[in-house]
Parts: sequence; C-alpha cells; structure tokens
Amino acid sequence: MYNIGIDLGGTNIAAGLVDRDLHLVCQVSRPTGLPKTPERLADDIHDLALELLEQNGLAEADVGCAGIGIPGTVNQAEGTVEYANNFGFDNVPFVRLLRQRFACTLLAANDAGAAAWGEYLAGCGKGTRSMVAVTLGTGVGGGIILNGRLWEGCNAAAGELGHMVIHTGGRPCTCGRRGCLEAYASATALIRRAEEALADTPESALARGPIDGRAVFAAARAGDETAARVLDAFVADLAEGVANVINLLQPELLCIGGGLSGAGDQLLEPLRRKVAPLIYSRYSRRNTRVELASLGNAAGIIGAAVLDRQEDFS
Ligand SMILES: [Zn+2]
Repeated sequence: MYNIGIDLGGTNIAAGLVDRDLHLVCQVSRPTGLPKTPERLADDIHDLALELLEQNGLAEADVGCAGIGIPGTVNQAEGTVEYANNFGFDNVPFVRLLRQRFACTLLAANDAGAAAWGEYLAGCGKGTRSMVAVTLGTGVGGGIILNGRLWEGCNAAAGELGHMVIHTGGRPCTCGRRGCLEAYASATALIRRAEEALADTPESALARGPIDGRAVFAAARAGDETAARVLDAFVADLAEGVANVINLLQPELLCIGGGLSGAGDQLLEPLRRKVAPLIYSRYSRRNTRVELASLGNAAGIIGAAVLDRQEDFS
C-alpha cells in the first residue's frame, strides 16, 4: 500500500508516491498556473495524482491515504482554507473540493507544517518526540511537533515563527508588524542586507555579480570582508529567533531547512555558537540539538503523505 503526498506551491504542484517505509518512490510535478479557480486547481491536483498512479501501474484503490501541504491556514475539520494569500483564497472549501475528487481519505495541513512532519518522521527528527523546523526561504516558515503531533494551534495558524519580533520598531514586515525575524533572516532579507552593505563598500567581491544567498556565502568563504560582516549580522539575528523558540518550547531538536540551509556548516556552525549563550537552560546537562534538515524538497511531499501517522489521529 502506498500513500500520496502533494506539495502545493505558488509556482509548482508536486505529487509523490510514498511507501510504508517512508521512501519517496516516484515524483511528478506541473506548474500551478495561477490565477486559477479553486475548482480547476482541485481538478489539476487530482489529475496529477492520477498521472502519478498511472506511471507506476497503480489505481486509486492501491492508495491508503493522500495528504496535501497548502501554503495557507488550513481548517482540516471544516475542509476549508481560511487564508492563502498566493492563491487569493479567503475561506474557500478547498479541502472539501479535493475530497470530492479523491477516492481515498484526504488530509491537509499547512505546507511548512507538512514539511516539518516529514523531517520528524523520515528525516533529521527520526527518533525524537518534539521538534521545531525553521525554514529559511523567501520568508521564514516553521513547523512545531510536540509529543508526536503537529501542533496546529486552535485555528491551524500555529508555527509562524517568522513573525516573532526580534527588533522592536525594526524593519517593516509583510505581515504588517515591524522587526519580525522574517525581515532579517529570510533569504530575501540576506540579499537586501548584502545590497545595503555593498552601497558602503563597492569594492566588495559581491559587486561582481547578481546577489543571491549562495553568492553571499561564497564571497564570505573566499575571504570577502563585507560578505563576512553581512553573514555575521544575519546569523546573529537568526540566533535570536532560534534561541527564543528553544527557550519557549525546549524541543529535542530544532532543524534549519529551506534554500539557505544548503550552505551547510558555514551556516550551522556559527549559528550554534551564537545560539548557545542565549539559551536560558545553557547550564542544563541536556539541551536542544540544532541541526540541518535532511530531506530537502522531499520533506513536504513525504510529510503530507503520512499526515495520517499522527498519534491519536481520528
Ligand atoms: Zn511579520
């Protein structure tokens, strides 16, 4: 028996077949093609799932359960998406539309939550009971797992770690507040920080090409002082957010995922050094491990496919 996991993004929809051992056996994708009505989007997602099954010589009856990660606030019980800004959804019965099309049980969660759930069961969180995943991409996303369950909050909007304020009255954030972690520690923020620093030090190696996250890390590795200073300040801000999360929840593991986690130890080692003195429990014998996520883009698909594995699921 297989499960199907779907990762719905603003640009692409990916669907994957996941076996009992949580291996991603096969993956297909197609452009999301926004703008699109919820009905047409639900049709496309179901078509993609059928394409996946056909490629593997399977039928809908061979699927135990399907799950989808949606970049928005998902009300699983009501079968609605309360808010998804990329899709223009405002209280749309999108999960119900999907359920009308799929023959098997269909579960839904926020996309960052699904990715955290994937890492928890099949990636770096294997063997733990509590974990927080922080995703550094265009924004800063998060997923919280407590006692073997994805923590969704009373309204399925929990885990928005990117919108914790780390600088009161600081930079404006897309959410309407000022000084959010996302405004300082996303990939977008890293690029903005590098561009600002470059205005003061035009001799920096960063001036030689288009600036993206990778370029900042590469320039710092090559000894560029401006890039090194930008990264140091970036990691210091990220550490404030990470330490706040650890002090609040004390999970066994906090993992860093998303595009910027591709920097590996160049990000992880200084982050660990800066987080350590900020931890309230720094004198404890046991503390939260800070690691890199291990599944990459597969985390969202695998996590969505096995949303039915939450403890006490009903
Ligand atoms: Zn914010």
